[in-house]
Amino acid sequence: MVNYKELGLVNTKEMFAKALKGGYAVPAFNFNNLEQLQAIVTAAATEKSPVILQVSKGARNYANGTILRYLGMAAVEYAKELGWEKPQIVLHLDHGDSFELCKDCIDNGFSSVMIDGSHLPYEENVALTKKVCDYAHKFDVTVEGELGVLAGVEDEVSADHHTYTNPEEVVDFATRTGCDSLAISIGTSHGAYKFTPEQCTRDPKTGKLVPPPLAFDVLEGVMKKFEKQGGFPIVLHGSSSVPEEYVEMCNTYGGKLPNAIGIPESELTKASKSAVCKINIDSDSRLAFTGAVRKHFAEHPDHFDPRQYCGDARKEMIKMYTHKIVNVLGSKGKAE
Ligand SMILES: [Zn+2]
Repeated sequence: MVNYKELGLVNTKEMFAKALKGGYAVPAFNFNNLEQLQAIVTAAATEKSPVILQVSKGARNYANGTILRYLGMAAVEYAKELGWEKPQIVLHLDHGDSFELCKDCIDNGFSSVMIDGSHLPYEENVALTKKVCDYAHKFDVTVEGELGVLAGVEDEVSADHHTYTNPEEVVDFATRTGCDSLAISIGTSHGAYKFTPEQCTRDPKTGKLVPPPLAFDVLEGVMKKFEKQGGFPIVLHGSSSVPEEYVEMCNTYGGKLPNAIGIPESELTKASKSAVCKINIDSDSRLAFTGAVRKHFAEHPDHFDPRQYCGDARKEMIKMYTHKIVNVLGSKGKAE
């Protein structure tokens, strides 16, 4: 049993309370390899931004849970080396699908877990989430629950259609489960193809696809319900913006990502200023990595040292993470 506090990690409690008051969101970046972790920590440490390192079940299967855990632990020491005296870093399980998986993470140094019972009937979701909360809270680990279903594909999580969160359920759910934050569905979705061209309109000037707006009325409905208790930390999943420059970089150098489309950054900035305290970004890192590697291979067909092309990928990801922190979520300087 390793408690996260021994590792210098923090849970989300204070972090979200500050974000809720301060009108910004904490970035939650998924990682499954060394370069992603280095890039996330470098960006967060340089900008003094609180940050959530997320590990999905798919990432555990790919990289091995033990290895990822130690990478998460290394993040704190690396951040200090970079001059961040009091790193505000959370190690979080993304989309935990069972009590056992959540318990395993809690017992092994995670400071936060998500239990995703959103596909279950309401009462079963409540029971499962409460069970995880009861265990997690014994060790001061924070828990994210989810109500509503997101469309799209992310590792093992997939759904054809989204079902918006019902604001009538949120207070009952949060009260009965004891969860510390709540992921809701307002039209964001997993993956790099968040909308089909049919769901979008075309900008008559540029011919580019314009995605439908997020359901801010649902978010407002949820926030209203929590007003009496002084607000509640809300989480948005599937919030990559699928930057055009990376899609183009991939496609220019041999890739094939037609009609990849994400959430406009202006919508995420708007959400950050509300009760949304955590915004999940995964696909953008994949795209930056892949774009940079494709470009490197095209320009240097003679290279075969992974440090050469992974080094380029890392540089590109640092740029992307920094941009999110500084220009999109407003979390720069919030963890001095
Ligand atoms: Zn998700």
